[in-house]
Amino acid sequence: MMADHDDALDSYNEKRDFGKTGEPAAEDFDPEWSGEGPIFVIHKHDASNLHYDFRFEVDGVLASFVVPKGPSTDPGEKRLALRTEDHPMAYADFEGTIPEDEYGGGTVMVWDRGTYTNPKDAPVTDQLDDGHVTIQLDGEKLSGGYALTQTGDERWLLVKMDDDEADARRNPVSTEPDSVKTGRSLEDIADDG
Ligand code: MN
Repeated sequence: MMADHDDALDSYNEKRDFGKTGEPAAEDFDPEWSGEGPIFVIHKHDASNLHYDFRFEVDGVLASFVVPKGPSTDPGEKRLALRTEDHPMAYADFEGTIPEDEYGGGTVMVWDRGTYTNPKDAPVTDQLDDGHVTIQLDGEKLSGGYALTQTGDERWLLVKMDDDEADARRNPVSTEPDSVKTGRSLEDIADDG
């Protein structure tokens, strides 16, 4: 019932034209911001529809989910998350504009990033296979526990866990719209080319 993601990077690389797009292709990735532990990044992506791409490191790749409305800090809010293909680790640092006719075309911002911990005994890769993932984020905008629960083939729900970092009144998607990497808005990134 779940799609096989083992060859997801192959399909990602086939769709990409590294000569035309400015995204990194390198597998070596150890940015100074990553510190200890696995990383996560949330890209804000102005494609045909504005959406957020939630990506976190699992077994040397970035497991990836499209979150149309973005993450919430309110435990009462369930956000649809569509699992998409794994991305290369180096993509975590990408911010810029991809030509509209290329895969992933549009303007991409590093909306949040940081590290995460796994509070469960089971490895995150097993949690993904089982359709329920719990990770503890330590980002610049988002922190605390988030749960992803599978409800269909590619369909999951992303929910903030009810912990000290939960805040039903905070709405970082609207109040903190800019890049944590460069401070730029989507418009700034698009204008910079
Ligand atoms: Mn996207």
